[in-house]
Amino acid sequence: MLSCRQLISSRLFQLRKKSILARVRASDYVEVLEEQGDLLKYPQVWLRDNCQCAECFHAATKARRSHWERGPLNVEVSQVTYNPEKKQLDIIWQDEHKSTFDLGWLRERDFGESTRKRYLEQVYKPSAQLWGKSEFKTVRREFQYQDVIQEDAVLKDWLEALAIQGFAILKGAPNDINVTKHLAKRIGYIKRTTYGDVFEVKSKPNAGNYAYLMTPLPLHTDMPYYEYKAGINILHTLVQSESKGGANTLADGFNVASQLQKLHPKDFEILKTVPVNWVDIGHDGNDSKPFHSLWRAPVICLDVDGRFTRINQNTTKRDSRFSVPLEQVVSWYKAYNKFLEIAQAEAVEFKTQAGDVFVFNNLRMLHGRTAYEDAPGNKRHLVGAYVDWDIIYSKLRTLKFPNAIA
Ligand SMILES: [Zn+2]
Repeated sequence: MLSCRQLISSRLFQLRKKSILARVRASDYVEVLEEQGDLLKYPQVWLRDNCQCAECFHAATKARRSHWERGPLNVEVSQVTYNPEKKQLDIIWQDEHKSTFDLGWLRERDFGESTRKRYLEQVYKPSAQLWGKSEFKTVRREFQYQDVIQEDAVLKDWLEALAIQGFAILKGAPNDINVTKHLAKRIGYIKRTTYGDVFEVKSKPNAGNYAYLMTPLPLHTDMPYYEYKAGINILHTLVQSESKGGANTLADGFNVASQLQKLHPKDFEILKTVPVNWVDIGHDGNDSKPFHSLWRAPVICLDVDGRFTRINQNTTKRDSRFSVPLEQVVSWYKAYNKFLEIAQAEAVEFKTQAGDVFVFNNLRMLHGRTAYEDAPGNKRHLVGAYVDWDIIYSKLRTLKFPNAIA
């Protein structure tokens, strides 16, 4: 390595005159000192792993094609130079392999905190804007159904609202039972569940689900009993109840979790660690296949970056079997009670009209409904469908970055 560093330092003077300086430091890193003084720093192993030459990288499929038996740990840089005309870094490795890296490509992959943060926020997932009852009016976004169907820019804004505020309302949808299907198709693909590809929410004789009654529906998320829980819920109001009830209730579950964390940190810890058994046993209607869905997960789930990623809450689907040690049970109930207390205090109420499509993040939003009364000639009727976040984020990225390269 010493000989290599001597070789590099002999070039420093020349490079410095050209304002951008590239060098190997401490054997593990290649450093690029930019004109404005920013220092970009890349592990040699990462550069070799991500060599963009035709032998190592298949551009058409954006795939690494080099086959490392144990990873590219043992090949070191022999020579590194910056080519100011081509704005690229030229590397010759000790095994005589050659790599070139475009400076712009390298900048986008800088390991510095601000570059990483920008990528995660702009490309990976936009940060959720948590909101409480008093902020509901400012976070409430409305879009015209036809604009979402016809204009990509509006589709993008709508999907961003779902990712950031967690919900949005589409106005002016036609009186057509296929509206939710059209919206799911506009995003990508519908999610099929044990309740079909679309489900009708109306009071039904022999209801197979508590939601199909006229009783109040407490704040909940759908399908906590699925490992792959439905991402968004698309609820199209075909007929709204003329009775006093039938209003939607909504609370930002991430905000509820965040408040619990601040106000009652011990209860927060319990709700994010103690797994609850969520269950759904039955059949949807008389002619469907029977199901027995079961998933164990805490009420509050965080992702690898420590951000809220999923809330599980559904009183009607919480199993009497609670598969945790006895001593965890009572403290869990106390913590759960605090969570529900905050949720109820932060819940807003509004009533959709016929032609409204209420769409929300089912991993985040606690939602419910007030009791209502059907009358002859006025039967409340909603149609719902689900789409997964993998499909939504993918669509959002293609809309935001139509010319994305690897
Ligand atoms: Zn290569």
